[in-house]
Amino acid sequence: MITRKSPQELELMHAANGLVASVLAELGRLVAPGVSTLDLDEVAERHVRDAGAVPAFKGYHGFPSTLCASVNDAVVHGIPSATPLVEGDIVSLDMGVVLDRFYGDSAITVPVGHVADRTMDLLRVTRRSLELAIEQMRVGGHVSDIGHAVQRHVEANGFAVVREFVGHGIGVTLHEEPQIPNYGEPGRGPALASGMVFAIEPMVTMGGPAVKVLQDGWTAVTRDGSLAAHFEHTVAVTDVGPRVLSQTMEADVVADIMTREPASLPHG
Ligand code: MG
Ligand code: MG
Repeated sequence: MITRKSPQELELMHAANGLVASVLAELGRLVAPGVSTLDLDEVAERHVRDAGAVPAFKGYHGFPSTLCASVNDAVVHGIPSATPLVEGDIVSLDMGVVLDRFYGDSAITVPVGHVADRTMDLLRVTRRSLELAIEQMRVGGHVSDIGHAVQRHVEANGFAVVREFVGHGIGVTLHEEPQIPNYGEPGRGPALASGMVFAIEPMVTMGGPAVKVLQDGWTAVTRDGSLAAHFEHTVAVTDVGPRVLSQTMEADVVADIMTREPASLPHG
């Protein structure tokens, strides 16, 4: 069953997801060569607890950290480590919280210093595929319209969509029905209705779509070693269109800077 949230519940979900967005924006600003994902995890946990919230991933099936930090060929579920990030890396930062019973869940992928042009393309295309997916969150659409929008944009740009991990409904539990694959034919699955809230999370690779989980039992990496990007927003279907709950103006600014067109970057 797909739960539908009341307007009051949507406000609570906005609070939880707004906290996630503001912490991710802060972490995005901190990412730089020499910084470790363990450093970022400590900042994230402090901000979450200071806000009176609880990290949702820490302890989830034994996951050790507040943040999932997935570097380069890691797609999702990377465990923060003391290894410093280096110029040219990309890192996916995925965080969940619980605040006033409701879950927030969002992710961004951030370049570390200057990265290759094709790597920036990967980030831009993945972020754009999320925007196109969000546009499908309308009353009268169907669940599979979301993944179809992701797949069409990603594959048109020569990248691949990961199959093994999917987006999900979200509310008073982290993973609710339905599952939301990032591929498929449109017009299938349950009809979208006002009050449904989904975490939409395209996972996109520069090579093939296949992934494997490392010996740590968590980190999912691409089988071919190609780079992977991951963006996620928690979004409500409302009578007046999609409402992105995990968005703040501050987070938007950071995301825009990160994915700025190369032509607008200063060349030195
Ligand atoms: Mg997430
Ligand atoms: Mg999620």
